[in-house]
Amino acid sequence: MLSDCPGCNVQIRFPHDASIIRCPECGETFSIKGLHANPRGWRIALFGTLLTFNYYFTFPFIYSDILVFVFLSLVGTSVTLGGLMMSVNDKRRVGNGFYLLEAALAVVVAGHAYVIMSMGSIS
Ligand SMILES: [Zn+2]
Repeated sequence: MLSDCPGCNVQIRFPHDASIIRCPECGETFSIKGLHANPRGWRIALFGTLLTFNYYFTFPFIYSDILVFVFLSLVGTSVTLGGLMMSVNDKRRVGNGFYLLEAALAVVVAGHAYVIMSMGSIS
């Protein structure tokens, strides 16, 4: 495992199960858990979630073709799942093994996509 020291930005190698690191260069101690857990994956996932449930806020205003909503929802689902995988990868890289929220959101959007697709096949 590698991480940058927040004090002097030197790169430190440390054992996988370490949680508190002391920088050999400047003596700064810092916690590894959640450090550098990049939020970019979550930003993408939340954008995808908005897209997935787009009809909740577009439907009252724009009465459009249902296929547009279905299409946007499926695109949103892919974007959400991609973002969640990115978040899990980023967390794994910094040794953060807490993926419960990612898993929960993945189940929600995947279940939603299933409902959308079965609705699409009925109509
Ligand atoms: Zn340092």
